[in-house]
Amino acid sequence: MNLKSAQFKLQARKAIGDADLRIKVKKATGTSLAKRKQVVEELADWEELRQKGHELRKIVVDNLDSYLSQFIESARRNGGIVHEADDHKSAKHIIYDIIRRVSADTVVKSKSMITEELHLNSMLEENGIRVIETDLGEYIVQLAGETPSHITAPALHKSKEDIARLFQEKLNMPYFDDPAKLTAAARERLRDEFLHARVGISGVNFASADTGTLTIVENEANARLCTILPEVHIAVMSVEKIIPSFDDLPLFLKLLTRSATGQRITSYVSLVNGPRSHHNPDGPRQLHIVILDGGRKRLAKHPEWKEALYCIRCGACMNICPIYQSIGGHAYGSVYPGPIGAVITPTLFNMKDSQDLPFASSLCGACTDICPVKIDLHHHLLFERREIVNRGYKSFIEKIGMAVWRWTMLSSGRLEFTGRIGWLLRKVLGKNMPAPGWTPHRQFPVIALRSFRSLMKNDTKYGT
Ligand code: SF4
Repeated sequence: MNLKSAQFKLQARKAIGDADLRIKVKKATGTSLAKRKQVVEELADWEELRQKGHELRKIVVDNLDSYLSQFIESARRNGGIVHEADDHKSAKHIIYDIIRRVSADTVVKSKSMITEELHLNSMLEENGIRVIETDLGEYIVQLAGETPSHITAPALHKSKEDIARLFQEKLNMPYFDDPAKLTAAARERLRDEFLHARVGISGVNFASADTGTLTIVENEANARLCTILPEVHIAVMSVEKIIPSFDDLPLFLKLLTRSATGQRITSYVSLVNGPRSHHNPDGPRQLHIVILDGGRKRLAKHPEWKEALYCIRCGACMNICPIYQSIGGHAYGSVYPGPIGAVITPTLFNMKDSQDLPFASSLCGACTDICPVKIDLHHHLLFERREIVNRGYKSFIEKIGMAVWRWTMLSSGRLEFTGRIGWLLRKVLGKNMPAPGWTPHRQFPVIALRSFRSLMKNDTKYGT
């Protein structure tokens, strides 16, 4: 759990005042949404695919233990070494132990949200192991000493000029802001690392229970190089990454790639079935699969919250969210930003510390409409708000405010009276009228002297 989410209001206020950030985030999310729209609209059965995806995710989450056992058995049959980790600490310990046993001092790593959740890089670096992020976006944020601001586009908050300046400073090279040249510069530096690292770490997009196949989706081939060049491949996944059958993979690939990057299919889809063998001489000598629970089995039993585990991490709900578009990903202070982050962070990690996240939503429902596996995101946000209030996490002032609001709304006379007081205060105090929670970036609106109800009742123009 990242404690920064406890400071969400502060961070959001800072981000909203950063016009440059807002422009960059809006541009990047807008491009993703336009590409997604194009490839989704060409499928006449998109809604049926979403429904099918939802049903399959439900089946897995409702029968998590049995699918997990089936997957572990299949993966072991393929020659994989499977490790189950109950929590973050034991997952990190397992990974470190594997690296230590082969005496590796450097690991190459492809993009993985689970390793972000584990804060794996900092732990390995504290223990003297160099970690090289090889996804271009991850490489950029690693050079900048930052964390990803989006789950599929880690450096979404950076312009090409920002990246050019960063490369100039950190890689000691001349300034140029041509994306092709910047990519070539990163590739040149990473190539050697791939060839010399003894351990490669990757995430997993889908794990087929019946065949034990790990599927890794990407566009840069860096994940493929991480999984085949080093002699040891460590694949890190959480328990809910399982899909029932390898035959379900085409459906999930369609849902994921179209929603995430607006592509019909990504440039690379790697299918990892095990380490090298007599029949298959390519690939790593050892394949370790580390499966993290980290509270997910508990979540899978909750009638409301289990739906959060259906997520296939496409990032579309972030792109469409007006809050994410305005503040970017870092302000959430969680590994998982945006609507799904606001649902999963309080339920999976710490509800008290992340109590403001479910309120970071206009409840417009755009996230629910776009989700490829039909997670009812805005209703979950509403449910969590209720839970947060029921647990008594809200401040005394807010509780008093809501009690007064309730008292007012239960009587038309009181509502009328309060409206007049508000009108009078607004007239006397003007834009200096104190309004809790109202930001300095917006003026408190003028309050009407007469309510709509009284107009309807008395005005002959509207009269009854
Ligand atoms: S909640 Fe849905 S839209 Fe959001 S990242 Fe997950 S799968 Fe994608």
